[in-house]
Amino acid sequence: MTDTIFGQIARGEMEADIVYEDDLAVAFRDLNPQAPVHVLVIPRESMVDLNDAPEVEAATLGHLLQVCATVAKQEGLAEDGYRVVANTGDNGGQTVNHLHLHVLGGRAMLWPPG
Ligand code: AMP
Repeated sequence: MTDTIFGQIARGEMEADIVYEDDLAVAFRDLNPQAPVHVLVIPRESMVDLNDAPEVEAATLGHLLQVCATVAKQEGLAEDGYRVVANTGDNGGQTVNHLHLHVLGGRAMLWPPG
């Protein structure tokens, strides 16, 4: 498994602006925010992207969505709404090969995405 900057954040080896963490997941602010609130939710366990999902504990994947909801509530996004995105592979625009969910909010999102 290739190590990544997110793996280093998950192991506490690299600084990040962490807004939530527990045994399974870490959530931190994106360095290059695309919305007033832009948080990344990652599993501590190393997995490249959603293509790995069938081999991963379903509870871990479900937990990541629960963390997105916790972060959204914490950041005051729950009432007005927000977007959760998992860019996957080249066509998905993924640039870091450690599964991450983007939680974006604080403005109205456009559809379709670019
Ligand atoms: P993606 O393009 O879906 O792979 O998203 C990767 C995201 O990680 C981008 O939005 C980057 O701005 C963000 N990013 C890269 N390095 C860091 C970092 N060290 N801390 C926080 N966010 C980062």
